[in-house]
Amino acid sequence: MAPVTTQLPVHGSVRLSEEQILLRDAVRVLADEQIAPRAAEIDRAAEWPEDVRRLLADHDILAIPFAEQHGGLGGDLLTLCLAIEQISRHCATSGLILAVQALGAIPIQVAGTPEQQDRWLPGLASGDKLIAFGLTEADAGSDPSGIRTRAVRDGGDYVIDGSKRFISHGSVAEYVVVFAVTNPDAEKPSRRLSAILVETDRPGFRVTRLEHKMGIRGSPTAELAFDGVRVPVGNRLGEEGHGFPIAMQTFERSRPGIAAQAVGIAQGALEVAARYATERRQFGKPIGELQMVQAMLADMDASTEAARQLLYTACVEIEAGSPDAARWAAIAKLVAGDAAMRVTTDAVQVLGGYGYIDDYPVERMMRDAKITQLYEGTQQIQRLIVARALLARGS
Ligand SMILES: Cc1cc2nc3c(=O)[nH]c(=O)nc-3n(C[C@H](O)[C@H](O)[C@H](O)COP(=O)(O)OP(=O)(O)OC[C@H]3O[C@@H](n4cnc5c(N)ncnc54)[C@H](O)[C@@H]3O)c2cc1C
Repeated sequence: MAPVTTQLPVHGSVRLSEEQILLRDAVRVLADEQIAPRAAEIDRAAEWPEDVRRLLADHDILAIPFAEQHGGLGGDLLTLCLAIEQISRHCATSGLILAVQALGAIPIQVAGTPEQQDRWLPGLASGDKLIAFGLTEADAGSDPSGIRTRAVRDGGDYVIDGSKRFISHGSVAEYVVVFAVTNPDAEKPSRRLSAILVETDRPGFRVTRLEHKMGIRGSPTAELAFDGVRVPVGNRLGEEGHGFPIAMQTFERSRPGIAAQAVGIAQGALEVAARYATERRQFGKPIGELQMVQAMLADMDASTEAARQLLYTACVEIEAGSPDAARWAAIAKLVAGDAAMRVTTDAVQVLGGYGYIDDYPVERMMRDAKITQLYEGTQQIQRLIVARALLARGS
């Protein structure tokens, strides 16, 4: 029997370039000065922060994941994740603006023709247009084989009928990449879907519901209806029937963004807790001098740093074209999501009763952390991906 071994990183340890450090620090300052003061209100009002979208566009932060030829900064995956991390340190909703813009654009980047890329990417890079990613349906979450939305050829058009659920930015985006059934009788189940870009001003497109959520409350999560929405065949990304592999390729590059959001949330909570521990006095001394509080802070720091280093390594491996990209993306999200949940829960603990009220940001961070264990594949699905990759090596 062949031994089942773990694959070692092949592209070496991560050392940030001078450019990456400059960009990270610039985003950090912007987030400290202009996003942090807005975060509590964005959560309380549960309203889309259009001002933050403009801020990110005006400072070319939304341009990071786009090639220079499309008006972008040509940032690699690690650079994108550094930016998402710094924004999410204060506001997970704001970090998601960048993460979803990157997510929605990946199908165009990996499967679009040069003409399609020239048509759609410059507007996304400038931040004038937003894009959403429409895979999930009411009966198709972890299992995309349950997708029922149909796209039927009619001359030079597809006519799309169906609905999508839980689509981030679905109510504010100009474009949605819709994964719809074009080949219901395909022999292989993975050849049933196609990825089609739908402009949301087309007749028959409607936002039918916005979710009321535990966290990332400023990020609109929309239910979308498609009633006979007509789009040209030229809006299809990649081959007909290749939607599923395009979605999976997309997740290999987008899950690190969610891991970055998780690392940012954890780091933000750690910083608040550490500061509080030096200020809050009980039993005649700062609680930071109590060993049990110190242990909590040390564990929080260790978990956050471990998740961060794994994420950075995953980014380098994926960017270098690792054949193990799906596993790297999955373990980064798995470890970072769990770290964010644990660290934010402990941050509330360090603040005691004050952690549980909204005078301090850690209760919001704890609510925000939870989504990183759910979207872009739940933690159970990440484990399945990792186990599959591991066991495939033994066979
Ligand atoms: C706020 C928010 C934003 C979102 N944004 C988007 C978006 O922009 N675009 C988009 O397409 N989707 C989006 N989603 C959808 C999200 O990706 C799904 O909710 C997620 O993939 C899980 O699907 P589900 O909710 O249907 O849960 P289900 O698939 O019903 O899972 C329920 C439970 O069963 C477990 N489970 C399911 N299958 C297995 C299995 N094989 N083995 C072990 N356990 C399993 C799950 O882990 C989970 O614990 C968003 C969701 C939320 C809440």
